Amino acid sequence: MTAMRTFRWLPVDERRHAIPGDVHGHGAPVTTLCGHETTIPDHEPTKYEWLWKTCWDCYEKARDFVHIGLAPLPGEHR
Ligand SMILES: [Zn+2]
Repeated sequence: MTAMRTFRWLPVDERRHAIPGDVHGHGAPVTTLCGHETTIPDHEPTKYEWLWKTCWDCYEKARDFVHIGLAPLPGEHR
């Protein structure tokens, strides 16, 4: 059995990607679920940025997590 991991959705590079839930901090390097290497933006996501399209590669990989309740669906942010 693999270790349980959580993730959260983050608008970055014009897509809503899923990133590991334990990565925090503006400017921190992060690899998204789809393998895209980027950094966490230096600001809280704006309402406009939350409207970016969901990265479906991330969504496919995240689907199992979503189904067992470890993560929200994309768009279920506060
Ligand atoms: Zn992605």
